[in-house]
Amino acid sequence: MSTSSHVRNTGDTVAAWAARTVVGVPTLLPTPRSPDDLRTSPLTQAVATHCPYCALQCSMTLTPSASTAVVEAGVGGLCSKGWSSAALLDSPRRLTSPLVRDGRHGRLREAGWDEALDVAAAGFRWARQQAGPDAVGVFGGGGLTNEKAYLLGKFARVALRTSQIDYNGRFCMSSAAAGAMRTFGLDRGLPFPLADIGDAGCVLLVGSNLAETMPPVMQHLSRQRESGGALIVVDPRRTPTAAAATLHLQVQPGTDLALANGLLFLALELGHVDEDYIEARTTGWPDVRRAVSASWPAQVELTTGVSEPDLREAVRMLAATDRAVILTARGAEQHAHGVDTVSSFLNLALALGLAGRPGSGWGCLTGQGNGQGGREHGQKADQLPGYRKLDDPAARAHVAAVWGIDPTDLPAPGRSAYELLDALGEDGGPSALLLMGSNPVVSAPRARHVQARLAALDCLVVADVVLSETAVMADVVLPVAQWAEEDGTTTDLQGRVLLRRRALDPPAGVRTDLHVLAGLANRLDVPTGFPSEPEAVFDELRRASAGGAADYAGISYDRLAAGEKLHWPCPYEGHPGTPRLFLDRFATPNGRANFVAVHPPEQVEPVDAEFPLLLTTGRVAAHYQSGAQTRRIDVLTDAAPTAFVELHPFLAERLEVADGERVRVSTRRGEAFLRTRLTDTIRPDTVFVPFHWAGRQRANSLTSDALDPVSKMPSFKLCAARIDRVAEAVR
Ligand code: SF4
Repeated sequence: MSTSSHVRNTGDTVAAWAARTVVGVPTLLPTPRSPDDLRTSPLTQAVATHCPYCALQCSMTLTPSASTAVVEAGVGGLCSKGWSSAALLDSPRRLTSPLVRDGRHGRLREAGWDEALDVAAAGFRWARQQAGPDAVGVFGGGGLTNEKAYLLGKFARVALRTSQIDYNGRFCMSSAAAGAMRTFGLDRGLPFPLADIGDAGCVLLVGSNLAETMPPVMQHLSRQRESGGALIVVDPRRTPTAAAATLHLQVQPGTDLALANGLLFLALELGHVDEDYIEARTTGWPDVRRAVSASWPAQVELTTGVSEPDLREAVRMLAATDRAVILTARGAEQHAHGVDTVSSFLNLALALGLAGRPGSGWGCLTGQGNGQGGREHGQKADQLPGYRKLDDPAARAHVAAVWGIDPTDLPAPGRSAYELLDALGEDGGPSALLLMGSNPVVSAPRARHVQARLAALDCLVVADVVLSETAVMADVVLPVAQWAEEDGTTTDLQGRVLLRRRALDPPAGVRTDLHVLAGLANRLDVPTGFPSEPEAVFDELRRASAGGAADYAGISYDRLAAGEKLHWPCPYEGHPGTPRLFLDRFATPNGRANFVAVHPPEQVEPVDAEFPLLLTTGRVAAHYQSGAQTRRIDVLTDAAPTAFVELHPFLAERLEVADGERVRVSTRRGEAFLRTRLTDTIRPDTVFVPFHWAGRQRANSLTSDALDPVSKMPSFKLCAARIDRVAEAVR
């Protein structure tokens, strides 16, 4: 595939310009570069690397072809996003010069790096002088390498001294992480190798459409099915993954917890609970046993929409093997009660004796490319590197020593991601923000409100590859290198650390995120402690994480380059890493896993006469997260050019809308204008909108900012909505 083809300015980009105009700050579109002008040193030899997108981090090879780079698949194959990922390297739409806005309401114009960094640093200094260190916020991303995530956290706490840092992984993994922490005492997405699911006698997959979001995983599930294993999929939609299942439980959105409690009730009734395991390895069982005692099948059927025979069949399948695996993902987790929902499935896994045994267990399917490593090394509001906690005096002392500062100079925990965005420009909230590797104008809940908060900032600095919908609002835009243009490590969904090697130089005018942090720190009078060489940052990360839960001390670039497969914790050089956790003990103080009693929640936003439908959001195969990258790749926009609203023909008939008709979808937060897509694979009470698009197609104009009380995860997967024909809506 040639990557030199012209990349179109999509309708979404146009919508972003329009949105910016609404807030009154016009922007000058940078001149597109021709691919031939872009790069001074093209790829000359094949380089083994990993896909830049999801947490599967598929291996692949970048190979020179004509004047550009192309992708060859690694052993596991690639999805369309991976195949086309090199296209953005030479895209004329990528940023190749810093941009600075002339005055608050002026235009963005091209600038030199010194000027752009000077303006950014001056904005941060001014905000700090007005209202103290917390007047500057930092917002990171789950796609940043371990080195960037680590240095961003250090930059916030050491160079800015702010507590106001969080990242978009809060919108992705936080409920699973919090659930795992309170049950196992440790959060690692999969505590066992991914390949285990291919050997499982039964897989219960809750809220994941792997066939479209991580297609290479399906080969493990195919192997599992061919060996006689059962696959149970819990999803409100009969997705391609659900269609491949032995049993599809087409649950009503937001009722997964009730379903899990109902399955546990039946496991008890049918005598499948492993009392010996519970006695030997857990605490808290009596409370959970009591909590599920009211989860009668008839009641669960009423709540979830899953029939009693199907509930019984699911329990029979899970209990028929000693190699059962329970996996949760965003469908179960992205709710205002996501942590309790994760706990309900963890309870089921513990009651069946699955966790901490080879070949079985509970795991979570991490989404973003470095969603795992990105949450371990300090860009979370409450966290220091190595999964240390900011409110732990010993953790503060350890990290402060590595950073060469007094522990008392470390700030306290700050606001979570949405709370931080919600506070921007408000009294007591940040008036300046550094944003790196994220596009919250598209990906945050209640996005119209978030857009307004960003517009209220005195100084917004965005480091990105492209002029995203958030970057277009910035006062300073810093063009940064892409995955193939710099060294760095990521940690995949099974806790394995991977080394991505620099394959080619970034275009002239582009610098790395590490250079950005070093340049800003220098201008903020912190001239040392911010190396821009990735290996030097990683070596410091190793020291900072040493002795922590996510211990990387024994992992080095040399070991990774030599092909060693290292899963953390890996506490010393020569340690083989830990592919399987919890075989002897859990990471709790007493070594036992904690049952946590949870009850089905009240709906945070019940349907009513005005908003009678259940809206859920999600992904399509061709796009990744906010679409900032994938909406600029022709082959992907050709495959999925626009958003849509999926609804059942019965509902369409009731609403008198036709397939392909443009409708208005609205909620209590806002509206989106979308084409209908009729399918009998969705529940008639539920509508689905993918969230990769911006402007009037933006799903997150609709979503709710109700937050989980523990994880602060927004309720992306459920809110009340209505659909109107556009003619009626206009009238
Ligand atoms: Fe990339 Fe994920 Fe697709 Fe693999 S499954 S090619 S890591 S996007």
